[in-house]
Amino acid sequence: MESLEPLLVVQEHDLALDRLRHRHATLPERDQFAAAAADVRALDAEIEQRRPPLAELARNEARYEDEAQKLSGQADAANAKLYSGEITSPKELQALQADVDQLRRHQAAVEEQAIAVMEEREPLEADLAALLARRAARSEDLTAAEATLAVAVASFDAEIAAEQVVRDESAAGLDAPIVALYERCRANSSSRVGAARLVGHTCQGCHLTIPATEVDALRKAPPGTIAHCDNCGAILVP
Ligand SMILES: [Zn+2]
Repeated sequence: MESLEPLLVVQEHDLALDRLRHRHATLPERDQFAAAAADVRALDAEIEQRRPPLAELARNEARYEDEAQKLSGQADAANAKLYSGEITSPKELQALQADVDQLRRHQAAVEEQAIAVMEEREPLEADLAALLARRAARSEDLTAAEATLAVAVASFDAEIAAEQVVRDESAAGLDAPIVALYERCRANSSSRVGAARLVGHTCQGCHLTIPATEVDALRKAPPGTIAHCDNCGAILVP
């Protein structure tokens, strides 16, 4: 049987891979990207909420403006008739003048309503413009954060791939069933240790003491003999 020594090398590379993958998953660039994405989403929601009431105000304003224009046209027409010379009866002229005055008053009232709606709409319009500007700025941040994250991820991907190659090379010298057993032990271990050096009576995987009889038996056994730490389950390498 072969020495289990190379398992410790595989173990070192696997732990290095774990650290790289953890750093890959917790890159600070991910937080910046997520924060910008969340801001853009929140701003989009707020912008969408503000559009319908603004559109309603704009419709009302346009309606009042149209109405004022129509009344202005009617007043102009009545006024033209008043001075056309067609009507000579003072009573009719008086009635027509009253119509013109009434139309002008109505027009003025409707114009005031249009202005009131405009005054209500303009600050809301300014708020929306400010929101759109913030959205545009955060959207730029998001694009930049995405690019920065992609660079960081690519760099880690390359580092992980290189580490994986070295790990697989170091595992290639071992018998496949031994590697498979090591991988099962590692998968079951909370500290991700599948093989551990036995130093004196202490397992270096969990730093607990192995009973002396077991240690003696393992040291006397031929190289490659499989024994596990009772505590962490790691394959002990004497
Ligand atoms: Zn142990």
